[in-house]
Amino acid sequence: MTAPVYICGQEVTVLPYEEVPRVHVGKRLRCELAEHHEGPHHQYAAEIDAPYPTAEWARWSDDTRPEFGVLPDCDTHNGASDDDKAYCVLFEGHPPPCSWVFHDPAREVEGFLADLGISWQE
Ligand SMILES: [Zn+2]
Ligand SMILES: [Zn+2]
Repeated sequence: MTAPVYICGQEVTVLPYEEVPRVHVGKRLRCELAEHHEGPHHQYAAEIDAPYPTAEWARWSDDTRPEFGVLPDCDTHNGASDDDKAYCVLFEGHPPPCSWVFHDPAREVEGFLADLGISWQE
């Protein structure tokens, strides 16, 4: 048995003067990579339609302000079939592991509350 891997979850505040693209991001960004990853933190920011659907990501390091840019999807899956099949929600070339491997306690709590009919927002 291996120990569970959790989401990085490192947060950064988006300052009012920062050029946030026409996408909607909240006042805080929260890294969606697995904990202890190499390189900058990333959070999915928005889907952009033109010229074809692409994903815009916010990227930042401990000592840099967030930047935004389009990254291709990782697009690998866990090899399971039907209901157990899970696709990675991260971008191509992200630091391992893929998203189905690790846990995001905050999101799991949200899902649990949603199942109970409780909507919880920051
Ligand atoms: Zn991170
Ligand atoms: Zn992946």
